[in-house]
Amino acid sequence: MSKIDWGNLSFSYIKTDYNVRSYFKNGQWSELEESTSEQLTMHMAATCLHYGQESFEGLKAFKGPDGKVRVFRMDENAKRMQQSADGILMQKVPLELFTKAVVRAVQLNMDYVPPYDSGAALYIRPLLIGSGPKVGVSPSDEYTFLVFVTPVGPYFKEGFKPTKQMISRKFDRAAPQGTGHLKVGGNYAASMRAGEIAHKEGYSSVLYLDSREKKYIDEAGPANFFAIKGNKYITPLSNSILPSITNMSLIQLVQDMGLEVERRRVPMEELEEFDEVGACGTAAVISPVGQIDDVDLGKSYHFGDPGTAGPISTKLYNKLKAIQYGKEPDKYGWITIVE
Ligand SMILES: *Cc1c(COP(=O)(O)O)cnc(C)c1O
Repeated sequence: MSKIDWGNLSFSYIKTDYNVRSYFKNGQWSELEESTSEQLTMHMAATCLHYGQESFEGLKAFKGPDGKVRVFRMDENAKRMQQSADGILMQKVPLELFTKAVVRAVQLNMDYVPPYDSGAALYIRPLLIGSGPKVGVSPSDEYTFLVFVTPVGPYFKEGFKPTKQMISRKFDRAAPQGTGHLKVGGNYAASMRAGEIAHKEGYSSVLYLDSREKKYIDEAGPANFFAIKGNKYITPLSNSILPSITNMSLIQLVQDMGLEVERRRVPMEELEEFDEVGACGTAAVISPVGQIDDVDLGKSYHFGDPGTAGPISTKLYNKLKAIQYGKEPDKYGWITIVE
């Protein structure tokens, strides 16, 4: 492997040595295959290319101060990929095949797990695609499941600082009864134009409102929304939100901290009442939000001190990170150590 500058990694693709693959054909999954190729060969009429039969996952492996490599909650990613597969009629990857592939991909690329003090991690990207040919719209008979890994830098280069989000009613990410709750590429294609506009205007992401009525807070771009109000952790409940494993983990932590959890519809007027707001997901754990601009109505909402993240968000962020890096005991059974 070539020398990697661990301290200056960003969130971009870096080649590693191996990826692992399994193919579904004639009604069964193949044995895991180890590959050194970065290329995929498939039929030009593959359903992923034409009709969007594609789902992906994202999780991380962390090297702790003890030198051990820990993968966070991969069983949950395995289950979620099955739900995504179900939702767009793809063949489900068996849970054991998924977790075996993740572990193997990490084992084969151990040299690429960034050292503890870099703050970086190994990002793991499982992918499931319809790879068999169809011209008429129908699910593929063949599927390819692949796991690759790539080292990524810490999300916050300038520290754990609040960002701005933008509300716009001009775009929807997902339909009310659509695929918003599935981790499928189509949702990302649908949100790229809005995301690009937000970035150009200096926002970290778009805060989507519900597509039907534009009354309730929905998804925070590629992350879940949460807010702190007094003693409560509030996160929206809707059919178009992706069930974030980070959010699920934060909910567990806040409950143990003695906070109340509310998962419910969150009317956007409630933004006036929040003490802290954040977006959560694997990439950043928590991305604190200090300001939300409703660009259609020319109105801004502010949360706490513009330069610093709120105390509860900070505590949660540190706590979850400490578990991921093995600095705190794994009392929830979230960690798989890979040797
Ligand atoms: C992946 C994803 C998230 C975050 O999920 P995690 O399991 O916490 O990484 C949130 N929203 C969307 C739309 C996503 O695709």
